[in-house]
Amino acid sequence: MATVAFIGLGNMGAPMVANLVKAGHEVKAFDLSAAACEAGRKAGAEIASGAGVAAQGADCIVTMLPAGKHVLGVYGDADGVMKHAPKGALFIDCSTIDVDSARKAHQIAETAGMLSLDSPVSGGVVGATAGTLTFMVGGTDTAFARGQEFLKVMGARMVHCGAAGAGQAAKICNNMILGISMTAVCEGIVLAEKLGLSHKALFDVVSTSSGSCWSITKNSPMPDMVDGAASNNNFRPGFTADLMLKDLTLAIEAAKSSGAACELGDHARRLYEALAAAGQGGLDFSAMVQDVRKRSE
Ligand code: NAD
Repeated sequence: MATVAFIGLGNMGAPMVANLVKAGHEVKAFDLSAAACEAGRKAGAEIASGAGVAAQGADCIVTMLPAGKHVLGVYGDADGVMKHAPKGALFIDCSTIDVDSARKAHQIAETAGMLSLDSPVSGGVVGATAGTLTFMVGGTDTAFARGQEFLKVMGARMVHCGAAGAGQAAKICNNMILGISMTAVCEGIVLAEKLGLSHKALFDVVSTSSGSCWSITKNSPMPDMVDGAASNNNFRPGFTADLMLKDLTLAIEAAKSSGAACELGDHARRLYEALAAAGQGGLDFSAMVQDVRKRSE
């Protein structure tokens, strides 16, 4: 069994730590927030006084942080993780961050003589708790092979997407498609309501027809159609509208810098921005249906 340093013990990090501990790994963890440290302690980690201290003697250093600036801050800190981790240790960043920052993080790790992976996840808090996350991984074959031991206890599926940054690229493409498809499903539902069609009729047709997608078959915004959908529970997340806005913003920034014409993605981003500005960002992202209804009054 290995020694793992885990930095970032929020909604996702703490349950991921619990699965590493359950698999027999020794976890030393750190978070800036005292409440998050307490969650990490409850998950079975030893709490360190700083990220660098947690990394001392670690075989693997996992980060699960809000954004690229936090990851680069932790990686780049002159007296932090790169100084204290043993040469050749494996760095796995599971946060969702922009592709440029992910590539910089790889560069910092490689310059320090470490192996590194960008490995954002899909599956949310439910998947983090159950150990069924999907990891979209970027990095060398050697780093990917080393990462199996740790990723397989936190998730059920690992896709090696390519070189440095490829995991983040796959994540934002997937979530841009998801944001657009959820918006489309919500508009279809409100149009059906205006035309006097029942939710059951719409669900039975669309879920088995050419308009079918995850946003209707797994997380239907119409309540009582699918077990586990947030709409059954007053849109308690799930995956929040705020996180969807974050991912759509990353996608559109990448589209602009790469020259991809992602007009629907940008439109979906603006709709989620409006939902967040209306104070609904903490709801599941399928709550977009309520906003479409409001705009249709
Ligand atoms: P969170 O805000 O609950 O947790 C992030 C933690 O990082 C916080 O506890 C914060 O105190 C800590 N932190 C920030 N800067 C730090 C630093 N310099 N050193 C140590 N700790 C620091 O966020 P989350 O929901 O756990 O999400 C984490 C990442 O996973 C994000 O990038 C998010 O986009 C991604 N993600 C989240 C979900 C989800 O459903 N929550 C799903 C997929 C991906």
